[in-house]
Amino acid sequence: MDAEGVWNKSLSLLENKLNRPAFEIFIKRIVPVSIDDTRLHLKIPGTLSMDYLGEYKSLIQDAVSSVIGKQLEIVATQDKTSPVPSPEPDNELTAGPRQQKKKKSTYLNPKYTFETFIVGASNRLCHAAALAVAEAPGKAYNPLFVYGGVGLGKTHIMQAIGHYTLETRPHLNVEYITTDAFIHEMMSFVQSGNLLNFRNRYQKSDILLMDDVQFIQGKERTQYEFFQIFNAFFEAKKQIVVTCDRLPKEIPTLEDRMVSRLNWGLIADIKPPDFETRLAILRKKIELDETSDIPESVLELIAETVTTNIRDLEGTLNRVVAYANLSKREVSLPLTEEIIRDIVPSKDTSSINVKNILKEVSSYYGVDVDDLLGQRRKKEIVAPRMVAMYLARDMTGLSLSQIGKDIGNKDHSSVLYACEKIEKEMKKDPSLRLGVENLKDKLSR
Ligand code: ADP
Ligand code: MG
Repeated sequence: MDAEGVWNKSLSLLENKLNRPAFEIFIKRIVPVSIDDTRLHLKIPGTLSMDYLGEYKSLIQDAVSSVIGKQLEIVATQDKTSPVPSPEPDNELTAGPRQQKKKKSTYLNPKYTFETFIVGASNRLCHAAALAVAEAPGKAYNPLFVYGGVGLGKTHIMQAIGHYTLETRPHLNVEYITTDAFIHEMMSFVQSGNLLNFRNRYQKSDILLMDDVQFIQGKERTQYEFFQIFNAFFEAKKQIVVTCDRLPKEIPTLEDRMVSRLNWGLIADIKPPDFETRLAILRKKIELDETSDIPESVLELIAETVTTNIRDLEGTLNRVVAYANLSKREVSLPLTEEIIRDIVPSKDTSSINVKNILKEVSSYYGVDVDDLLGQRRKKEIVAPRMVAMYLARDMTGLSLSQIGKDIGNKDHSSVLYACEKIEKEMKKDPSLRLGVENLKDKLSR
């Protein structure tokens, strides 16, 4: 068998083992070069390297071994010729007359670049997808749909695509907008009777970065306008990147046609970072902020304690540094312990009650509170009702029977059943887990 034969067989093995986004991003773009008795030589596109592939490296190794029937050394070289950005204006991407204006990149946060983004197991897929998109906008994956809980780096990675594009293809117009701003802007154009101008505005852009698209729920008019813009971009092969706190199909009231559009390209998730990644992020942050004199043990303590998300992680470090400055003390382990003791258990749960839980669950899943409280057995209602019970159990300290009384007059065994069911399902169903995490986060703010 030649290299190509071996690689193709390995591909089908790998395809069965991996989910589609991981397969597309990490495996499919690799090209076989040559094979001999001891080695298989592969070419890896663009910025990826074999080390970067992390756990996928051993999966490749296993697949190749089982095709060949013995261990081969895998040698990989980076393929610098593949999608490296072209310095020439790319005609496919510039609809209409070329804009020679100075780039307005001020709406992008200058800190949110690829250089400052730490890659770990929790975000590698998303990072690689974002790079692929930045290197070949409109070609690699369109749309790119990034989802994950709050504070995990969605906005950061999305804006990194924007910065990269402005640097490597300055003739392109990058449009970054939060969905909230999009809605307000559209409303003001509607009110002044200038909807056409609103649509035209987007025709001038080459790359659309739409942040937090979950806020489009329940906004029919906005969905319609976004759908039109989306289609125009897609047809002109212009890149669309969307972030969201959940999967498209879980945005209540999002029209089916919109869900299917968002599913067209690649869906990449960001998970909460592990300890190593949290520590690396803190190290990077003190390097960037040029904050010196922070002992490693302090960073380790923060990385160990603050596990929720990266925003909280950075917030805690900032607080420690600010506190040390104010009290004219050095940043030390005892000082950090003092502060962490103050903030971590201070998650004030007293304001979390069944009423708030029902309200948040209702708006998250797009189900009426009355339905959550009622007896209807429709699946779309039963699942959110169970989530509400689970959250009440987890966050309020009320007894099972009290929760049952408050949510639809059920007995304590129904509540217990719901809690166990949700716990079990969360292990199998990442989007349910994400939903529960999002809700917990909303409730504890
Ligand atoms: P989200 O949009 O998912 O809520 P953000 O992109 O706003 O999260 O990220 C929150 C904070 O964490 C930002 O300051 C961002 O720079 C930082 N951050 C997130 N992910 C990373 C990462 N992988 N490396 C470095 N900093 C990160
Ligand atoms: Mg964000």
